[in-house]
Amino acid sequence: MTDQEFAGVITIDGPAGSGKSTIAKQLAVKLGIQFLDTGAMYRAVALACLQNQISLDNSEQIQKLLPHIDIRFLDGKIYLNRHDVSNQIRTAELAAAASKIAILPMVRSFLNHLQREIGRNRKIVTEGRDQGTAVFPQARFKFFLIAAQEVRAQRRWLDLQSRGQNISFAEVLAEQIERDHRDTHREIDPLQAAKDAITLDTSSMTTDEVLHKLIQEINRCLPH
Ligand code: C5P
Repeated sequence: MTDQEFAGVITIDGPAGSGKSTIAKQLAVKLGIQFLDTGAMYRAVALACLQNQISLDNSEQIQKLLPHIDIRFLDGKIYLNRHDVSNQIRTAELAAAASKIAILPMVRSFLNHLQREIGRNRKIVTEGRDQGTAVFPQARFKFFLIAAQEVRAQRRWLDLQSRGQNISFAEVLAEQIERDHRDTHREIDPLQAAKDAITLDTSSMTTDEVLHKLIQEINRCLPH
């Protein structure tokens, strides 16, 4: 791995509801480069486990399943073994399932490898939990977005509502607290800011304000 291979990568990490998906997507459009949603990849692996009736803590079975998992992105959609699963993975159930399989070392190394293949010698904006720390430590620009617990749950609840999912705010908040705990306390590549990341609290910021701030930081660091 050389610094040059991944110099075109911009990482945005943070907890659920911090705004990273929306921001990463919009930043990629503004810069005219590719966007990588790594949370969707963990959700797709979790979905593959459920489809195959594999328990989410059965590492032996999951290890055997991984070589049969093909994940691709095309036109803003995610395909699991050639099936478009973009909508199917956007449930609170799949979010919780994803964070359960995300503690397994073999799942992380399988997806880290795939993510590096996608980012190698490309310009991309990638978002997740470990992009700046473990997957692309050489990335030129690293951001870490945070927001107050209730604000994040509110954003996610509104998002799930807009997708027609019938779930209460209390359920979303409870699932989020449990998931945050698992994501920050797991042994491998836990959710944390890279030492050289710029941290931004988005609690009281609009999407445009966050986007503006990120672009400002990128321009500030680029040679003029
Ligand atoms: O970002 P999203 O909510 O889609 O992520 C679902 C879960 O996948 C997270 O809660 C986390 O456990 C896992 N994940 C991860 N590393 C990433 C992206 C997501 O562990 N880079």
